Amino acid sequence: MDNCVFCKIIAGEIPSRKVYENEEIVVFEDIEPITRIHLLCVPKEHYKTIAELNEFRAETLGRAFYTLGKVLPSLGLQDGYRIVINQGEQAGQTVPHLHLHILGGEKLGWGK
Ligand code: AMP
Ligand code: ZN
Repeated sequence: MDNCVFCKIIAGEIPSRKVYENEEIVVFEDIEPITRIHLLCVPKEHYKTIAELNEFRAETLGRAFYTLGKVLPSLGLQDGYRIVINQGEQAGQTVPHLHLHILGGEKLGWGK
């Protein structure tokens, strides 16, 4: 999608620090990390929220969790991590392309 920063990263039009990629998803470092390790897992297809899931997108997202479970321990996250989706304005979503935040590399608190 035009003007979407994550679509541009996926297309290679702007740089990113990719740590994993397959046909359906890309995982790269967040440019403004809030934890020692802060990755973003982004489906290559552009849509904004889980309200826009269809069967194909839901399957892709399910496979993404499966893949992350296998891959994240080898990326310094063997002691645990948090996966977060900010969805919509009140949750602070700033990039309108669905993405999973993967937070870890340190002990995390819990709260809003
Ligand atoms: P959200 O607020 O959930 O929409 O999260 C968007 C995230 O994308 C933020 O944590 C930003 O720091 C991150 N971000 C924005 N632009 C880039 C970029 N060019 N490369 C990597 N991360 C980015
Ligand atoms: Zn996009």
